[in-house]
Amino acid sequence: MIYKRSSELFAAAKKVIPGGVNSPVRAFSAVGGEPIFIKEAKGAYLYDEDGNKYIDYINSWGPLILGHAYEPVVDAVVEKAKKGTSFGTPTQLETTIAELAVSMVPNIDKIRMVNSGTEATMSAVRLARGFKGRDKIIKFAGCYHGHSDSFLIQAGSGAVTFGTPNSPGVTNGTAKDTLLATYNDLENVKEVLEANKGEVACIILEPVAGNMGCIPPKKGFLEGLRQLCDQHDVLLIFDEVMTGFRLAKGGAQEVYGVNADIVCFGKVIGGGLPVGAFAARNEIMDYLAPTGPVYQAGTLSGNPLAMAAGLAMLQELNKDAEIYNRLEEKTAYLHKGLVNVLNRNKVAHSINRQGSMISVHFGEEPVTNFASAARSAGNGKFKKFFHGLLEHGVYIAPSAFETWFITDALSYEDLDATIEAVHQVSKEL
Ligand SMILES: *Cc1c(COP(=O)(O)O)cnc(C)c1O
Repeated sequence: MIYKRSSELFAAAKKVIPGGVNSPVRAFSAVGGEPIFIKEAKGAYLYDEDGNKYIDYINSWGPLILGHAYEPVVDAVVEKAKKGTSFGTPTQLETTIAELAVSMVPNIDKIRMVNSGTEATMSAVRLARGFKGRDKIIKFAGCYHGHSDSFLIQAGSGAVTFGTPNSPGVTNGTAKDTLLATYNDLENVKEVLEANKGEVACIILEPVAGNMGCIPPKKGFLEGLRQLCDQHDVLLIFDEVMTGFRLAKGGAQEVYGVNADIVCFGKVIGGGLPVGAFAARNEIMDYLAPTGPVYQAGTLSGNPLAMAAGLAMLQELNKDAEIYNRLEEKTAYLHKGLVNVLNRNKVAHSINRQGSMISVHFGEEPVTNFASAARSAGNGKFKKFFHGLLEHGVYIAPSAFETWFITDALSYEDLDATIEAVHQVSKEL
């Protein structure tokens, strides 16, 4: 494929935008080469500035579960825009989407809209800290919760319970309140809680991890966390920014039958516009301003365009009883096809899947946490795989630590074409 125009546009972008991108993972740093500039998209396909076409498995990193430029969503936004784009006052639309979200998701009474997943998790943690009157939080290595300071923390050397900043600009003061634990390892969580008795406000996690590849929770892991949280009087926060409205109407809480105390949303809930949200039962949500003392606000929060897109998306998902089965069947079909061709070409692999999330790891070792994900990403095969697929018109995320997102717009012909592309590329791996 020829990327002449993309290359020119990237050169121009780099002069006025840091690294030429408005979010680092778009820059292809992990795979080498230059990012591709997309001109438009429809259904399952992306079209770039040079006229190349791709089957898309990123789908804006998750929101577009029904495919690009999905008509009911686009129409809702266009109609709304004509009547004003933002008022900074309450609107009926905000109540309508809140009612629908509360009816779809188990165990929540109220929901607050924000503008991104980052805001949702940042606010959820503040609420948890305020509600419990404690400072420390537990997060898991490899789980991504957006870019606010409390989450840009990595495991420190030595002491199991001590985090250190993983970006300059995050203070040691902040880092000392974020404790790191190992995903899928209840014993480790227990140790961290024991070592910090009475100091932990909440445990936050991706109930199905999607930011170190797709890593489902081991049997009993979420139930065990629920128990530990009850035992230690700690709030459990499910960051469902990726999994919410994707794994099921009620997200991971519904799929695994485990209740979280606070749930965070983003991505699908905005239908492709900038939306995040967090939700909980009344007791906790009423602790938020203006009813309660924990402050949180937003000039554009709940703005009409974003709410129109989100509402149209949730309505589509809510009325289609088969959507989640259909997505799961497509994902299972892809999974089976990938295993076949990778086996045929003798490429060691380990594939994880849950609902419409799937990831391919190059190594035999099962990928169950950040350390195993990092080991299988370390062999360099992913770069070749990524660029090979791109040449065959298949666009997956440019990092070994990302999930593929299956959308309802993908046809079985698209999936077959993808499996054939993986066959061709994996011959060379
Ligand atoms: C994408 C993501 C976020 C951050 O959302 P933004 O809208 O990018 O700020 C937080 N948590 C999870 C699990 C995510 O996948």
